[in-house]
Amino acid sequence: MSQSLQTTETNEDFDVIIIGAGLGGLGAACQLGLSDKNVLLLEKHNVPGGFATSFVRGRFEFEGALHMLSDIGTPEDPGALYRFFKRIGLVPDLLKFKHIPEYYRSIFYDGYDTVIPYGVEEYFNKLLELFPSEEDGINNFREICEAIYNGIQYIGSRRGKVSQKDIIKDHPWIARVVGLTLQDIFDKCFNNKRLISVISQPWGFLGLPPSRCSAYSFLGMTMSYLDKGGAFPEGRSHALTSGMVKCFQKMGGTVKFNALVSKILLKNDKIYGVELLDGKRFHSKAIISNVNPICTIMQLLPDGTIPEGYKKKIYAPEIGPSGFSVYMGLNASPQELGLKEHETFINKDDDLDAAYDSFRKIRDPRYIVAACYNNIDPTISPQGTSQLVLTTLQMGDEWQIIAPDQYHKIKDNYADKMIQMVENTILPDIRQYIEVAEVASPLTYYRYSKNYNGAIYGYHQDVYNSPMMRLKSKTPIKGLYLAGAWTNFGGGFSTSILGGRVAAGLYLSDNKEGEI
Ligand SMILES: Cc1cc2nc3c(=O)[nH]c(=O)nc-3n(C[C@H](O)[C@H](O)[C@H](O)COP(=O)(O)OP(=O)(O)OC[C@H]3O[C@@H](n4cnc5c(N)ncnc54)[C@H](O)[C@@H]3O)c2cc1C
Repeated sequence: MSQSLQTTETNEDFDVIIIGAGLGGLGAACQLGLSDKNVLLLEKHNVPGGFATSFVRGRFEFEGALHMLSDIGTPEDPGALYRFFKRIGLVPDLLKFKHIPEYYRSIFYDGYDTVIPYGVEEYFNKLLELFPSEEDGINNFREICEAIYNGIQYIGSRRGKVSQKDIIKDHPWIARVVGLTLQDIFDKCFNNKRLISVISQPWGFLGLPPSRCSAYSFLGMTMSYLDKGGAFPEGRSHALTSGMVKCFQKMGGTVKFNALVSKILLKNDKIYGVELLDGKRFHSKAIISNVNPICTIMQLLPDGTIPEGYKKKIYAPEIGPSGFSVYMGLNASPQELGLKEHETFINKDDDLDAAYDSFRKIRDPRYIVAACYNNIDPTISPQGTSQLVLTTLQMGDEWQIIAPDQYHKIKDNYADKMIQMVENTILPDIRQYIEVAEVASPLTYYRYSKNYNGAIYGYHQDVYNSPMMRLKSKTPIKGLYLAGAWTNFGGGFSTSILGGRVAAGLYLSDNKEGEI
């Protein structure tokens, strides 16, 4: 982070300053908006949202990140996130949601092609219909999934005040699953490779294949989608994040854009404010940082203020993947193209570990998702056109070592291979319809978000970094809290917002107890 040249005291004092208006920062801001605290939200860009944004190319406005949002449900059967949005005044007046008709389509190079529905009953019936010889294993798997989901709902209902004794007595699967990978659960139920692939399709939402992914995270996510469905905000994620900003302001919060924080200020080891790149200073006794923890701790804080043990905690977890996306505006409607589903996972085969290995090599993608947003919202692109976005994951460090003069060639070549996967499966003549295309690599995501390695979910979401074990919001510096994908419940829209709310809640309780 560059040093500012001249400092200017603004004499503006706040109870809390939030650095970053990504989903973690916005979750914290809106939670604090419900209290009587005087809060300042600072964002380096001129728009809120971080990854949760959109951009325009030609006559298309592309969704930057969101494929499907969990935890929304319906107004009659709302998820926890919808209930929060209602409390802050975002729904139903400022924002509406579209419901995604099906969970996903799954297609393989050998021609296998199936569509998986939402709904717990519908999902397990579909698995039984596709794999009748695996009936016992599927029923066993369902019991485990339901037991884990009941446990997660119990924990959610207790607002963090959970008794380990009750968990072990009433929800033993929660205690058991914490140390298990998704593959460990599959091994207890079945070993049909195609069945495992079909169930695991959304593993890219967590960034790790079954052999490494936390069973708790994957099964919790799956059951939440099955139970409440997937949603998409009308107006894309930009409407969601700018709506959250409006709610925060209505509740009395202050927002400043184009405000890059370059320093967190400490006096006698206590937080007393922040300094911006242009030298302006704002004061507060508490800070919630939505900036990734490595940057918050190692760059924003003064040297020598953080215990070595905590630095190890920050550096020890493995950093998760970044994304690689090809955003395409096609000059034909989804009907003309035969694209009926929103989310199609395209796989070369059932070797999910090989697919994960391909994230480390910039050669051949093996697993991508093609999202046709018109199937959720027909108005998302001009009439007679379609918005198709191809996404896979790539490890950011592999892209940092590319020579600058090779970058564009390598990026275009990789995008071309992803388009070939579409040609080989769902749309053989896709190239003749491409009107505009924009490609984002891990370097693009890094440049935009400043997340370490361009990581889109923060640290890896493996068993050592599942929601129970992940870095928490509280830091050793009194008054400094962390929020966002790297902490609490991990990456993703609803989890990052929830993590921000947790950080705000911790501040409020420390403040009530007189600690800050
Ligand atoms: C291509 C793609 C597809 C995705 N698909 C989905 C999906 O379908 N469903 C899902 O749930 N999740 C999805 N995600 C993941 C999800 O978008 C992220 O996990 C989540 O948005 C992370 O939010 P965050 O608040 O932790 O971080 P960020 O979005 O990185 O926000 C951090 C904010 O801090 C600001 N900031 C940084 N440094 C400073 C500074 N020094 N001063 C001031 N401001 C600063 C940044 O500008 C940014 O606004 C996707 C992500 C990508 C990229």
